[in-house]
Amino acid sequence: MRLTNYFLPVLKESPSDAEIISHQLMMRAGMISQSSSGIYSWLPLGLRVLKKIESIVREEQDFAGVNEILMPTIQPAELWKESGRYEDYGKEMLRINDRQDREMLYGPTNEEQVTDIFRRSIKSYKELPQLLYHIQWKFRDELRPRFGVMRGREFLMKDAYSFDLNQEEAKLSYYKMFIAYLRTFERLGLNAIPVAADSGPIGGNLSHEFSIVADTGESEIFCDKNLLEISIDENIYSSNDKIIDVVENYLKFYSATDDKHDAKKFNNLVSKDNQVTGRGIEVGHIFSFGDKYSNPMKASIIGNDGKMSNVYMGSYGIGVSRLVAAIIETSNDEKGIIWPTSVAPFLVNIINLKNKDDKCMDKCIEIHNDLERSGIDSIVDDRDESAGKKFSDSDLIGFPVTLVVGPRELENGNVEIRFRREGNNQIIPYDNVLKIIKNKLFEE
Ligand code: ATP
Ligand code: MG
Repeated sequence: MRLTNYFLPVLKESPSDAEIISHQLMMRAGMISQSSSGIYSWLPLGLRVLKKIESIVREEQDFAGVNEILMPTIQPAELWKESGRYEDYGKEMLRINDRQDREMLYGPTNEEQVTDIFRRSIKSYKELPQLLYHIQWKFRDELRPRFGVMRGREFLMKDAYSFDLNQEEAKLSYYKMFIAYLRTFERLGLNAIPVAADSGPIGGNLSHEFSIVADTGESEIFCDKNLLEISIDENIYSSNDKIIDVVENYLKFYSATDDKHDAKKFNNLVSKDNQVTGRGIEVGHIFSFGDKYSNPMKASIIGNDGKMSNVYMGSYGIGVSRLVAAIIETSNDEKGIIWPTSVAPFLVNIINLKNKDDKCMDKCIEIHNDLERSGIDSIVDDRDESAGKKFSDSDLIGFPVTLVVGPRELENGNVEIRFRREGNNQIIPYDNVLKIIKNKLFEE
């Protein structure tokens, strides 16, 4: 891809309503365009990042054995009347009437819809457990949409749902998702902390929010530093015992959201040195809630004793579009964004210092093609802009690697390579470009 063919509306100044750094940088780097309050269009660069995050989330759900489906954005009100949430949800729900005057709504979440799918086809304990997920747009008419895609009204969510025979099995599904979340966030370059969250009045419920620490986080979190140092082995899903061991190891340590926090307990259980407190951005939330929906919606199954019982359920969300902003919040400097390799819109930006020089242009295209053949996505900055502007845009957008091709170095068979995170540059023979970039990107 050449920048002259790319739709990239880079802004000099950030819009005045952008209060936090991720919103400012997403606007300046031409990633999104506002449609109305809390509703955005994703432009090419932003969409590439969104898609990369979505793929990692999907791969980890699949790896954990969750089945992907796709439920509609528009749901019938009837289902929500069955669960009792139609009234409760209040003004956050966007309600629509179709031409037949039937009550519909734009889904803020999908517990009712997925419970309906389940109860239509699964009748026996033999068919359990079931784990389903989808990645779909949601609409919540937030009171105060703000911070760009961080708290939007329309946003992309991965939501998974589990169906189990009893509490014990439901706990295992919950633990599996707990692991899947840790793996997902790690691949996204994030240190997400599982914090115990309010799980409502029903006993046996479990709930954790996955939060990343950033000054702009909307809530306060508290945890034991030991929580951040646990590692998970690659074959974790090979046995249930392993899954249970690892998660219960996490659960040993204190963690809490502000509404669950108990200062006295925190001070008693966690030494001063190990107390971590900070603002957290909630990027995921897992919840095990028994028969909250299966009871009113009559999603019951026949057990091996021949008796009918309500299925045990859980739901598990990840804010896919929020993650784009959350990653930027934790990874930027005064020049702009610093993308982790796994989600960078392009891994390499090849700057042509002299567009009119055929040799330079040919070299850029040659390197670009070599990189693409190796599965490393790159873009050529062939715009008629000054070198300074090209460098500053490259830093603003945050490509992990920038290559600079100019006539003088090219004469000697060299190009310049710059690494965004380290901020250093080096002259290297262009024959080594591929090797050096591969080493660099895989070492991270
Ligand atoms: P919050 O407390 O931030 O309002 P929530 O608890 O209402 O979120 P959940 O229902 O748990 O959200 O949704 C799952 C995930 O979806 C959240 O962890 C968050 O990452 C994301 N999310 C929720 N609301 C929004 C929003 N308005 N804009 C962007 N992402 C959101
Ligand atoms: Mg939540």
